[in-house]
Parts: sequence; structure tokens; C-alpha cells
Amino acid sequence: MRVLLIDDSTTMRKIQRRALNTLGIEDIDEAPNGKEGVDKLQAESYSYNLVMLDMNMPEMGGLEVLKAVRADPNSNNIPIVMCTSVADKEQVMEAIKSGASNYVVKPFTPEDLQKKVSKYLS
Ligand SMILES: [Mg+2]
Repeated sequence: MRVLLIDDSTTMRKIQRRALNTLGIEDIDEAPNGKEGVDKLQAESYSYNLVMLDMNMPEMGGLEVLKAVRADPNSNNIPIVMCTSVADKEQVMEAIKSGASNYVVKPFTPEDLQKKVSKYLS
């Protein structure tokens, strides 16, 4: 099981990594912005079982990444869980329309995250 975390917050990536570790997921890559996330997907031959995607990031935001990933036949089946804040309501609606698999609202507990992602990792 491989997971890619795309988030500009080091702390958020750490929280996600720890929550995934408790699910037994150790094969985790990280990218600090959307652009590097898209590059990483390609560099790793789209071999991820799940992408955790932050909504608000520099370079390339979550919605932009989501649309690019869904438009690419190499990656359009990879589950993508958006990490959002309460202020992102409209963006979340657009993300769901654009093919996001699910979303989790920050701040979330490890249990919240695990609930949202476990079905993609079994
Ligand atoms: Mg962010």
C-alpha cells in the first residue's frame, strides 16, 4: 500500500503520516505543493493506492491538482481524499463534482482520517 501526501504544511503531513502508520501503512511519500505532487505521481509511475490532497497550497492548489489527475488516464482511478477547512465549502462541492473520492475537514483526529481512508487501503 502506497500513499502520497500532498500538503504545504509539514505539520499536517506529519499528522497524516502518523495516522496512516497506526493503520500499518509505512510506504508514504510527501510533496510540499501541488506542482511537486503531480510531478511525484508521474515520477513514481502512478503507483499510489491513495492520495491525500490539501485544498489550499501554493504553486498549484488542490482543485487544480485534482482536475489534472482526473484528466490523465494514468491516474484517473487513484482514490483522492481532499483535506479541507470549514471555509472551503464551495471548493469541496466542486472537488466532489470533479471526482474527489472523499474529503476530511481540518482539524481532524487520527480516527477521523482513518475512517475516511481505510476503505481505500484494504
Ligand atoms: Mg495548505
